[in-house]
Amino acid sequence: MTSQAKAYAAQSASTPLAPFSFERRDLLPDDVSIDILFCGVCHSDLHTARSEWDGTIFPCVPGHEIVGRVSAVGDEVNNFAVGDLVGVGCMVDSCGHCPSCKESEEQFCETTGFVGTYNGPDNVLGGHTFGGYSDHIVVKQGFVLKIGHDEKDLAAVAPLLCAGITTYSPLKHWGAGPGKKVGIVGIGGLGHMGIKIAAAMGAHVVAFTTSPAKIEDAKKLGAHEVIVSRNADEMAAHANSFDFILDTVAASHDLDALTGLLKRDGTLTLVGVPEHAHPSPNVFNLVFKRRSIAGSLIGGIAETQEMLDFCHQHGLVADIEMIDMQEIEGAYDRMVKSDVKYRFVIDMASLKA
Ligand code: NAP
Ligand code: ZN
Repeated sequence: MTSQAKAYAAQSASTPLAPFSFERRDLLPDDVSIDILFCGVCHSDLHTARSEWDGTIFPCVPGHEIVGRVSAVGDEVNNFAVGDLVGVGCMVDSCGHCPSCKESEEQFCETTGFVGTYNGPDNVLGGHTFGGYSDHIVVKQGFVLKIGHDEKDLAAVAPLLCAGITTYSPLKHWGAGPGKKVGIVGIGGLGHMGIKIAAAMGAHVVAFTTSPAKIEDAKKLGAHEVIVSRNADEMAAHANSFDFILDTVAASHDLDALTGLLKRDGTLTLVGVPEHAHPSPNVFNLVFKRRSIAGSLIGGIAETQEMLDFCHQHGLVADIEMIDMQEIEGAYDRMVKSDVKYRFVIDMASLKA
């Protein structure tokens, strides 16, 4: 027995997302069934739906910033009850016993790899997983997050499930906090959360943008300084001064302009995953000050819960623009033009229309 889900899917890389239905599995003893109320729109959804990365399996139902209400729980579920407000992020399963899974770094699962909320292998029904641009989802309880925020903020909590954890995890890992000068590059969905979280951690936050129109917003989000990255003089004024820079940009660009701003032993961490590779970085910039270029992938489930609780305690949610499901293609087109303030969130009630 399965249940039919209403959704929006891309049937190919070049067709617009359109109504689609498919089957969700029936509850296993360890499963939670969730009525999806809101789903954030991540640039990864666009990269995947338009097959900008290799490996999209069609039909593709994107969406991994899911919030909603528990509608049913399996017999062995002890952590969640019907009516709870919960979230689901980028993963719905992993092997559970490799060293990374044991350390709750499931995103780095070493045996099977993590199961993506969409475009991953569906280990129960076969085929591939379908994400949050849908009316409900069935997820193993170990991959369901508790939401402590007030229900009125629920839509603005959705983006924390990817944009929040993808910035929180590297900021914490590389020690953002008091006395540290931290750069956040790109003020989109990830970047605007990066600014808020780094400021809440107590760092001195500098935002880098290609959009001068976002300068004032960046300050309101918590940036102490804002640099227009296309202005070479503004960039040069910050040479050799950053402890850490987090790069969220979704397009290929020159990394040397950023590595040159790091102090000795500073790190530039990439979380943006553009369709086309960045130009190869200049090695001199790295060797002379023992600087690093690193990468980071979302965050584990325990850390995602920690991030949600941190955001709740600090009163942080995303700045969102609510859309109907039917408006998704227009939202994608605006995202490509960096015209997002600062995360689109789909009101799933519109799916019923
Ligand atoms: P987004 O909302 O579209 O924001 C990206 C921002 O990058 C834009 O708003 C823009 O900010 C800046 N930008 C765009 N084109 C640029 C260019 N040519 N040069 C310089 N800056 C440019 O995207 P997002 O949802 O935050 O996602 C960002 C990237 O992270 C995507 O590639 C996504 O797939 C990836 N991602 C990675 C992970 C992970 O685990 N590593 C998780 C989620 C997403 P300004 O207008 O301020 O310049
Ligand atoms: Zn995402």
